[in-house]
Amino acid sequence: MSKGSRSGNGQQTALSAHFFQKLASGVSGVLFIYWLSADGESHRCPFISEQVLALFGINPPDLNENADPIFSMIHPADAEAVMASIRASADTLGPWRYRARLRLQNGDYEWFEVNAEPERQSDGSTYWYGQFHNIQHYKNLEQSLRESEAEFSFQAGFQRLIARLSTEFINLGFGTIDQCIDELLRSIGLFFQVDRAYLYGFSEGYAVMTNTHEWCRGGVPALIESQQQVSIEDFHWWQEQIEGMVSGSRVVFIEDVDRLPREAAPERALLQEQGVSSMFCVPIRVRGRVTGFFGVDSLRQRTWRLDQADLLIIVSGLLSGALERNRLEEELLNQSIRDPLTGLHNRRYLMPRLDEMLGRSNRRGERFALAMFDIDHFKKINDSIGHLGGDYVLQRFADILVRQTRSMDVVVRFGGEEFIVVFSAVEHGDVRQLVQRILESVHDEAFVFDDGKISVTVSAGVAGIEEFVDRPASPDALIAGADHRLYLAKQAGRDCLVDVSGTLRI
Ligand code: GH3
Ligand code: MG
Ligand code: MG
Repeated sequence: MSKGSRSGNGQQTALSAHFFQKLASGVSGVLFIYWLSADGESHRCPFISEQVLALFGINPPDLNENADPIFSMIHPADAEAVMASIRASADTLGPWRYRARLRLQNGDYEWFEVNAEPERQSDGSTYWYGQFHNIQHYKNLEQSLRESEAEFSFQAGFQRLIARLSTEFINLGFGTIDQCIDELLRSIGLFFQVDRAYLYGFSEGYAVMTNTHEWCRGGVPALIESQQQVSIEDFHWWQEQIEGMVSGSRVVFIEDVDRLPREAAPERALLQEQGVSSMFCVPIRVRGRVTGFFGVDSLRQRTWRLDQADLLIIVSGLLSGALERNRLEEELLNQSIRDPLTGLHNRRYLMPRLDEMLGRSNRRGERFALAMFDIDHFKKINDSIGHLGGDYVLQRFADILVRQTRSMDVVVRFGGEEFIVVFSAVEHGDVRQLVQRILESVHDEAFVFDDGKISVTVSAGVAGIEEFVDRPASPDALIAGADHRLYLAKQAGRDCLVDVSGTLRI
């Protein structure tokens, strides 16, 4: 029994070594025993699973005396840290757990994780019993998770940005569209990490383009000043791109300026001069017509997202909508402050301008004067040549007023055949001369309607801001003052002007 049992034990030992080999080769990880001398100078693997042959092309017996071959498979960037993790485990006798890349037989590196328990020997050397296994699959998952998180946060960031910008455009007050566009260019430029973001407008026939808004990253030179009224005549390739934008709503994408086709040599030279490496341009449509484009420049070579064009089209849609609405509002505003017959401003425009001028006069002592003109015997003109003839006279007189005034003056059709000019920043004597010149121009003008010559004269009353020393000035008081003098001019026989110094006959 005891003999049998002994021989049975011997058989069992042999069998268990055989079974252990099978077991070790059956698990997916690599089982090993690793030994490191007390001085750390020599190391070996008394046992390591058969898999190292298939994985790394190393025969297990080759590691029995020296573990160098398996350590030489560690990625150079990871090698030092692996050794440090072994030393740490040896010092603390805590488990050896580490992740590193190992080179496979096919030359690729893949991630492995080692888990082993140390056991100190009486001579100071250490054994580790454990396994390492391939975790590349988890690394891949981790990577794709990171990528999809980055993608999600990019998309969410873009949506937030567009939502914020559209709210700003919706809440737009008059006069702030330019600020909103500047803010949009800045936000989009920073978000897409480009160096410039800009807006261009085309002339009616697409022969000329002008940079209207521009954002540049810090340190990047601005181009807007040099990009005013740029003729497209010599840029044939660019003309074709514009044609594509206009008729096909196409996006222009230059991934690498250096690789532009031969026929785009002038464009390439210009872009290189501007330091541009790649660019995107998206057409802007206002009322169905392409009126310009929105674009971004990158000064360095870069990779663009596959959906970059789609995202920029969304931005250009936002710009198109805002510009369209702004144009509509400007037209409505213009309609409400302009006289359709003469094209001059009307009374609604005059009053706030007068308020502003009065304010400036109070603060800075700026002088200005108001002249009221009234066509003499206009009723007779209407009666003799008809209402259309009367309209013609009104238009011609309006032309004279525009010709004889400066752009800083305010010219207004105040009522039927009454007009007001506010001369800004002028001295008293100058106004008298300016009004006199207008009445003379009426004399010199040939008013011809239906082949008949019409004789036209005008009377004028002038009031200056400097006259208001002992009473408060107001728009109404100024107008009333000029109106009263106009009445005096009519009384004095018409075709003359009356101001603070009296009557001046032409
Ligand atoms: P006075 O020399 O005193 O200014 O005489 P007047 O006939 O010019 O003065 P009044 O103010 O009595 O007549 C102005 C006329 O202008 C009356 C009106 O029919 C005419 N009128 C007003 N608006 C228009 C317009 O848009 N077109 C034309 N053709 N006539 C207009
Ligand atoms: Mg009149
Ligand atoms: Mg009148």
